[in-house]
Amino acid sequence: MTDKPRNFPLPLSSVTDKGQKKQPVFGPVATPQTATRNAAYNALHNTAPNTAGKPTHAPAPGMPASTHGLNARPGRPVGVPPERVPPAAPRQDALVSGAVRRAMVARVAQQGVRDRAVLSALEAVPRHLFVEEGLAPQAYIDASLPIGHHQTISQPYIVGRMIEVMRQGATLQRVLEIGTGCGYQAAVLACIAQDVYSIERIKPLHELAKANLRPLRVPNLRLHYGDGMLGLPQAAPFDGIILAAAGLEVPRALLEQLAIGGRLVAPVGERSQHLELVTRVAKSEWQRQMLEDCHFVPLRPGTV
Ligand code: SAH
Repeated sequence: MTDKPRNFPLPLSSVTDKGQKKQPVFGPVATPQTATRNAAYNALHNTAPNTAGKPTHAPAPGMPASTHGLNARPGRPVGVPPERVPPAAPRQDALVSGAVRRAMVARVAQQGVRDRAVLSALEAVPRHLFVEEGLAPQAYIDASLPIGHHQTISQPYIVGRMIEVMRQGATLQRVLEIGTGCGYQAAVLACIAQDVYSIERIKPLHELAKANLRPLRVPNLRLHYGDGMLGLPQAAPFDGIILAAAGLEVPRALLEQLAIGGRLVAPVGERSQHLELVTRVAKSEWQRQMLEDCHFVPLRPGTV
């Protein structure tokens, strides 16, 4: 493991699908994820607030108001009808996308994320490839965005913050993420840790993440379809565990699958949520620390 971020694309050899047994289907969830801190930041900077959990559609400070030049998908700038597509200029698009991503990372740093490895990882992952084409212009705004099935791609700030808190400057060998969603945070984690495992309970999202990650070729990331509340005992213990969905408490199985000295970061709560850092200090001893307020989609049992 090294602090140096991996650069994408990386060879993909092992995005696997070890399906678990189907469990009862639960209703869809409907709370989009935002961080309250981001709302405060937006208010300060007079940008459209991320109200009622809806992603803002206003460009962030320093962001282009139009979509031109943003490399949403290779080949066609968003907003340009296919019949009027100018000759592809992928190099320029890539450069613009890189610059916009750097601006996003600078805003994340301004909000307090200091870990250089985390900031570099956020810079390395092309977030626009994890949202649908129509939302690509908003991909580098520091906001959560819908990914279908009433779920959201996490806001870059909260992704950075959670990884920073979990890492605390340490080398991470094995990390587990609960809630793959579109695969964005998993890709960021793969730049930071030696081996990353990520579980998603909604089958179409698990498939979406696989499709999103395939072109990036991330050899140290394994995706699983199943109920993340049960963890992944066959790969435990983990140096770090991150939950991308909020439960009323941290599932016991996940605490048990944490290595001694390992750290788990999770949103906890229902309407009012906060980030919780749990450190396993001994075989039967965990220390809890409450961090900032946050707003995540709910953690649900079973698979869909
Ligand atoms: N990590 C994603 C965020 C996805 S939103 C990103 O990078 O943007 C949270 C995800 O957690 C949703 O896709 C939701 O389906 C999933 N989730 C909720 N409960 C779960 C559970 N018990 N097991 C696995 N995934 C779960």
